[in-house]
Amino acid sequence: SDGLQTDIIGRKIYYFNTIDSTQNFALRLSEWPHENGSVIIAKKQTRGRGRLNRKWVSPSGGIWLSVLLKPNFDSSHTSLFPMATSLALSIAIKKILKIDTQLKWPNDLTINDKKVAGILIDASIESNKIEYLIIGVGINFQVKPSAITRQIKNQNYGVATLVEKENNSQVKLVQQFLLELEHVYNQIMSGHVSNIQQKWIKRSSTIGKNITATTTTEVLRGKAIGIDKTGALLLSKDGKIQKLLAADISYKT
Ligand code: ADP
Repeated sequence: SDGLQTDIIGRKIYYFNTIDSTQNFALRLSEWPHENGSVIIAKKQTRGRGRLNRKWVSPSGGIWLSVLLKPNFDSSHTSLFPMATSLALSIAIKKILKIDTQLKWPNDLTINDKKVAGILIDASIESNKIEYLIIGVGINFQVKPSAITRQIKNQNYGVATLVEKENNSQVKLVQQFLLELEHVYNQIMSGHVSNIQQKWIKRSSTIGKNITATTTTEVLRGKAIGIDKTGALLLSKDGKIQKLLAADISYKT
Protein backbone atom coordinates (compact mmCIF):
# COMPACT_ATOMS: atom_id res chain seq x y z
CA SER A 1 0.00 0.00 0.00
CA ASP A 2 3.05 2.29 -0.13
CA GLY A 3 2.29 4.95 -2.71
CA LEU A 4 -1.45 4.43 -2.78
CA GLN A 5 -3.16 7.81 -2.93
CA THR A 6 -6.79 6.89 -2.34
CA ASP A 7 -8.98 7.83 0.66
CA ILE A 8 -11.39 4.91 0.91
CA ILE A 9 -10.44 2.26 -1.61
CA GLY A 10 -7.57 0.12 -0.39
CA ARG A 11 -7.67 1.10 3.30
CA LYS A 12 -7.42 -2.63 3.82
CA ILE A 13 -5.77 -4.89 1.30
CA TYR A 14 -6.01 -8.69 1.47
CA TYR A 15 -3.37 -10.44 -0.57
CA PHE A 16 -3.43 -14.13 -1.50
CA ASN A 17 -1.09 -16.34 -3.43
CA THR A 18 -3.96 -18.60 -4.40
CA ILE A 19 -7.65 -18.13 -3.79
CA ASP A 20 -10.85 -19.63 -5.22
CA SER A 21 -12.19 -16.25 -6.27
CA THR A 22 -11.45 -12.74 -5.00
CA GLN A 23 -15.09 -11.92 -5.75
CA ASN A 24 -16.33 -14.70 -3.46
CA PHE A 25 -13.96 -13.62 -0.70
CA ALA A 26 -15.31 -10.08 -0.96
CA LEU A 27 -18.83 -11.47 -0.80
CA ARG A 28 -18.03 -13.07 2.55
CA LEU A 29 -16.31 -9.90 3.79
CA SER A 30 -19.35 -7.82 2.94
CA GLU A 31 -21.08 -9.11 6.08
CA TRP A 32 -18.44 -7.57 8.33
CA PRO A 33 -18.21 -3.98 9.53
CA HIS A 34 -15.30 -1.69 8.58
CA GLU A 35 -14.75 -3.28 5.19
CA ASN A 36 -15.89 -0.42 2.98
CA GLY A 37 -13.17 0.03 0.38
CA SER A 38 -11.40 -3.24 1.08
CA VAL A 39 -9.39 -4.67 -1.81
CA ILE A 40 -8.70 -8.36 -2.37
CA ILE A 41 -5.85 -9.31 -4.69
CA ALA A 42 -4.66 -12.76 -5.71
CA LYS A 43 -1.76 -14.04 -7.72
CA LYS A 44 -3.88 -16.93 -8.98
CA GLN A 45 -7.55 -17.83 -8.85
CA THR A 46 -8.70 -21.41 -9.04
CA ARG A 47 -12.35 -20.56 -9.68
CA GLY A 48 -12.42 -17.08 -11.16
CA ARG A 49 -15.77 -16.26 -12.67
CA GLY A 50 -17.24 -13.96 -15.29
CA ARG A 51 -20.80 -12.92 -15.90
CA LEU A 52 -23.49 -15.62 -15.76
CA ASN A 53 -21.07 -17.81 -13.82
CA ARG A 54 -18.83 -18.29 -16.82
CA LYS A 55 -15.28 -19.26 -16.14
CA TRP A 56 -12.65 -16.53 -15.88
CA VAL A 57 -9.23 -18.07 -16.41
CA SER A 58 -6.78 -16.58 -13.89
CA PRO A 59 -3.24 -18.00 -13.97
CA SER A 60 -0.30 -16.22 -12.35
CA GLY A 61 1.02 -13.32 -14.38
CA GLY A 62 -2.35 -11.61 -14.38
CA ILE A 63 -3.92 -9.13 -11.99
CA TRP A 64 -7.03 -10.51 -10.29
CA LEU A 65 -8.73 -8.25 -7.78
CA SER A 66 -12.00 -7.24 -6.20
CA VAL A 67 -13.05 -4.04 -4.48
CA LEU A 68 -15.78 -4.08 -1.84
CA LEU A 69 -17.83 -0.91 -1.54
CA LYS A 70 -20.64 -0.25 0.88
CA PRO A 71 -21.95 3.07 -0.32
CA ASN A 72 -24.76 4.70 1.49
CA PHE A 73 -26.87 5.75 -1.44
CA ASP A 74 -29.81 4.69 -3.54
CA SER A 75 -29.45 2.13 -6.27
CA SER A 76 -30.39 4.28 -9.25
CA HIS A 77 -26.82 4.58 -10.50
CA THR A 78 -25.70 0.99 -9.94
CA SER A 79 -25.76 0.14 -13.62
CA LEU A 80 -23.11 2.78 -14.30
CA PHE A 81 -20.43 0.86 -12.46
CA PRO A 82 -19.45 -1.53 -15.25
CA MET A 83 -18.89 1.42 -17.56
CA ALA A 84 -17.18 3.58 -14.97
CA THR A 85 -14.87 0.76 -13.91
CA SER A 86 -13.78 -0.08 -17.44
CA LEU A 87 -13.12 3.59 -18.07
CA ALA A 88 -11.05 3.88 -14.88
CA LEU A 89 -8.99 0.87 -15.89
CA SER A 90 -8.47 2.09 -19.44
CA ILE A 91 -7.24 5.46 -18.13
CA ALA A 92 -4.87 3.78 -15.64
CA ILE A 93 -3.41 1.51 -18.34
CA LYS A 94 -2.80 4.51 -20.58
CA LYS A 95 -1.14 6.53 -17.80
CA ILE A 96 1.12 3.78 -16.48
CA LEU A 97 1.88 1.65 -19.56
CA LYS A 98 1.13 4.13 -22.38
CA ILE A 99 -1.06 1.50 -24.01
CA ASP A 100 -4.36 2.34 -25.69
CA THR A 101 -7.27 0.03 -24.95
CA GLN A 102 -10.76 0.14 -26.43
CA LEU A 103 -13.95 -0.26 -24.46
CA LYS A 104 -16.44 -2.80 -25.64
CA TRP A 105 -19.92 -2.51 -24.18
CA PRO A 106 -20.85 -3.42 -21.52
CA ASN A 107 -17.52 -3.82 -19.76
CA ASP A 108 -14.64 -5.36 -21.68
CA LEU A 109 -11.29 -3.80 -22.42
CA THR A 110 -9.82 -4.85 -25.73
CA ILE A 111 -6.75 -4.41 -27.87
CA ASN A 112 -7.39 -5.06 -31.57
CA ASP A 113 -10.80 -6.46 -30.57
CA LYS A 114 -9.17 -9.07 -28.34
CA LYS A 115 -10.10 -9.14 -24.68
CA VAL A 116 -7.35 -7.90 -22.38
CA ALA A 117 -9.43 -7.32 -19.24
CA GLY A 118 -12.89 -8.13 -17.95
CA ILE A 119 -15.04 -6.59 -15.27
CA LEU A 120 -17.70 -8.15 -13.14
CA ILE A 121 -20.02 -6.36 -10.73
CA ASP A 122 -21.92 -8.15 -7.98
CA ALA A 123 -24.39 -5.95 -6.17
CA SER A 124 -26.90 -6.43 -3.41
CA ILE A 125 -29.78 -4.02 -3.41
CA GLU A 126 -32.48 -3.86 -0.74
CA SER A 127 -35.46 -1.57 -1.12
CA ASN A 128 -33.59 0.77 -3.46
CA LYS A 129 -30.53 1.01 -1.24
CA ILE A 130 -27.20 -0.49 -2.15
CA GLU A 131 -26.05 -2.89 0.57
CA TYR A 132 -22.78 -3.62 -1.12
CA LEU A 133 -21.13 -3.46 -4.47
CA ILE A 134 -18.29 -5.74 -5.41
CA ILE A 135 -16.22 -4.70 -8.37
CA GLY A 136 -14.20 -7.54 -9.85
CA VAL A 137 -11.40 -6.92 -12.31
CA GLY A 138 -9.32 -9.40 -14.23
CA ILE A 139 -6.38 -8.07 -16.22
CA ASN A 140 -4.28 -10.24 -18.50
CA PHE A 141 -1.18 -8.35 -17.48
CA GLN A 142 1.50 -10.76 -18.50
CA VAL A 143 0.10 -14.18 -19.30
CA LYS A 144 0.53 -15.99 -22.55
CA PRO A 145 -2.79 -15.80 -24.45
CA SER A 146 -2.47 -19.52 -25.13
CA ALA A 147 -2.40 -20.22 -21.37
CA ILE A 148 -5.87 -18.71 -21.30
CA THR A 149 -7.42 -19.82 -24.58
CA ARG A 150 -6.55 -23.44 -23.97
CA GLN A 151 -8.84 -23.35 -20.94
CA ILE A 152 -11.77 -21.71 -22.70
CA LYS A 153 -14.37 -23.97 -24.25
CA ASN A 154 -16.65 -21.80 -26.37
CA GLN A 155 -13.96 -19.79 -27.94
CA ASN A 156 -15.48 -16.89 -29.76
CA TYR A 157 -13.19 -14.53 -27.89
CA GLY A 158 -9.72 -13.48 -28.88
CA VAL A 159 -7.46 -12.98 -25.88
CA ALA A 160 -4.81 -10.28 -25.58
CA THR A 161 -2.23 -9.53 -22.89
CA LEU A 162 -0.84 -6.16 -21.86
CA VAL A 163 2.89 -6.78 -21.74
CA GLU A 164 5.08 -9.46 -23.21
CA LYS A 165 8.42 -8.92 -21.53
CA GLU A 166 9.22 -8.81 -17.81
CA ASN A 167 7.64 -5.71 -16.47
CA ASN A 168 7.50 -4.52 -12.90
CA SER A 169 4.72 -1.99 -13.18
CA GLN A 170 1.94 -4.22 -11.82
CA VAL A 171 1.87 -2.44 -8.47
CA LYS A 172 1.88 1.01 -10.08
CA LEU A 173 -0.93 -0.05 -12.38
CA VAL A 174 -3.05 -1.35 -9.50
CA GLN A 175 -2.47 1.82 -7.49
CA GLN A 176 -3.37 4.05 -10.42
CA PHE A 177 -6.45 1.98 -11.18
CA LEU A 178 -7.67 2.24 -7.57
CA LEU A 179 -7.15 6.00 -7.71
CA GLU A 180 -9.07 6.33 -11.01
CA LEU A 181 -11.79 4.06 -9.62
CA GLU A 182 -12.19 6.20 -6.53
CA HIS A 183 -12.42 9.22 -8.81
CA VAL A 184 -15.29 7.82 -10.93
CA TYR A 185 -16.93 6.46 -7.79
CA ASN A 186 -16.98 9.96 -6.27
CA GLN A 187 -18.34 11.33 -9.54
CA ILE A 188 -21.17 8.81 -9.53
CA MET A 189 -21.93 9.52 -5.86
CA SER A 190 -22.18 13.23 -6.56
CA GLY A 191 -24.28 12.75 -9.69
CA HIS A 192 -21.66 13.86 -12.21
CA VAL A 193 -22.21 11.08 -14.68
CA SER A 194 -22.16 12.82 -18.06
CA ASN A 195 -18.40 13.22 -17.79
CA ILE A 196 -17.98 9.46 -17.36
CA GLN A 197 -20.36 8.83 -20.24
CA GLN A 198 -18.53 11.13 -22.63
CA LYS A 199 -15.13 9.71 -21.78
CA TRP A 200 -16.41 6.16 -22.13
CA ILE A 201 -17.85 6.90 -25.59
CA LYS A 202 -14.55 8.44 -26.71
CA ARG A 203 -12.70 5.20 -25.93
CA SER A 204 -15.44 2.87 -27.08
CA SER A 205 -15.17 0.57 -30.08
CA THR A 206 -18.89 -0.20 -29.92
CA ILE A 207 -20.66 3.05 -30.78
CA GLY A 208 -21.30 3.44 -34.51
CA LYS A 209 -20.87 -0.25 -35.26
CA ASN A 210 -23.38 -2.75 -36.57
CA ILE A 211 -23.58 -5.39 -33.91
CA THR A 212 -25.19 -8.65 -32.97
CA ALA A 213 -26.45 -8.66 -29.39
CA THR A 214 -27.33 -11.84 -27.59
CA THR A 215 -29.47 -11.47 -24.49
CA THR A 216 -30.77 -14.26 -22.29
CA THR A 217 -33.94 -14.31 -24.38
CA GLU A 218 -33.13 -13.15 -27.91
CA VAL A 219 -30.62 -12.28 -30.61
CA LEU A 220 -30.80 -8.76 -31.99
CA ARG A 221 -29.01 -7.07 -34.86
CA GLY A 222 -28.72 -3.34 -35.31
CA LYS A 223 -26.49 -0.33 -35.07
CA ALA A 224 -25.12 0.77 -31.70
CA ILE A 225 -25.81 4.48 -31.66
CA GLY A 226 -25.11 5.50 -28.08
CA ILE A 227 -25.60 4.87 -24.40
CA ASP A 228 -28.12 6.46 -22.06
CA LYS A 229 -27.63 7.94 -18.59
CA THR A 230 -27.83 4.53 -16.95
CA GLY A 231 -25.24 2.89 -19.18
CA ALA A 232 -27.80 1.03 -21.33
CA LEU A 233 -26.81 0.54 -24.96
CA LEU A 234 -29.03 2.19 -27.58
CA LEU A 235 -29.56 -0.04 -30.57
CA SER A 236 -31.13 1.31 -33.75
CA LYS A 237 -33.09 -1.28 -35.68
CA ASP A 238 -35.62 -0.72 -38.48
CA GLY A 239 -35.96 2.93 -37.52
CA LYS A 240 -36.70 2.14 -33.90
CA ILE A 241 -34.43 2.56 -30.90
CA GLN A 242 -34.13 -0.24 -28.43
CA LYS A 243 -32.43 -0.10 -25.02
CA LEU A 244 -30.20 -2.97 -24.02
CA LEU A 245 -29.52 -3.37 -20.32
CA ALA A 246 -27.48 -6.57 -20.53
CA ALA A 247 -26.18 -8.62 -23.45
CA ASP A 248 -23.14 -10.11 -25.09
CA ILE A 249 -22.29 -8.26 -28.22
CA SER A 250 -20.29 -9.18 -31.26
CA TYR A 251 -19.13 -7.03 -34.17
CA LYS A 252 -19.92 -9.82 -36.59
CA THR A 253 -23.35 -9.33 -38.15
P1 ADP B 1 -16.86 -10.18 -18.71
O1 ADP B 1 -18.03 -9.33 -18.68
O2 ADP B 1 -16.06 -10.19 -17.46
O3 ADP B 1 -16.07 -10.09 -19.94
P2 ADP B 1 -17.74 -12.82 -19.39
O4 ADP B 1 -18.60 -13.57 -18.49
O5 ADP B 1 -18.19 -12.62 -20.77
O6 ADP B 1 -17.49 -11.56 -18.65
O7 ADP B 1 -16.28 -13.44 -19.38
C1 ADP B 1 -16.12 -14.77 -19.37
C2 ADP B 1 -15.73 -15.22 -20.73
O8 ADP B 1 -14.49 -14.63 -21.12
C3 ADP B 1 -15.44 -16.70 -20.71
O9 ADP B 1 -16.58 -17.42 -21.07
C4 ADP B 1 -14.30 -16.88 -21.71
O10 ADP B 1 -14.79 -17.03 -23.02
C5 ADP B 1 -13.57 -15.57 -21.66
N1 ADP B 1 -12.38 -15.58 -20.77
C6 ADP B 1 -12.17 -16.31 -19.66
N2 ADP B 1 -11.01 -15.99 -19.06
C7 ADP B 1 -10.45 -15.01 -19.82
C8 ADP B 1 -9.25 -14.25 -19.72
N3 ADP B 1 -8.38 -14.39 -18.72
N4 ADP B 1 -9.03 -13.34 -20.69
C9 ADP B 1 -9.88 -13.15 -21.71
N5 ADP B 1 -11.03 -13.83 -21.84
C10 ADP B 1 -11.33 -14.75 -20.91
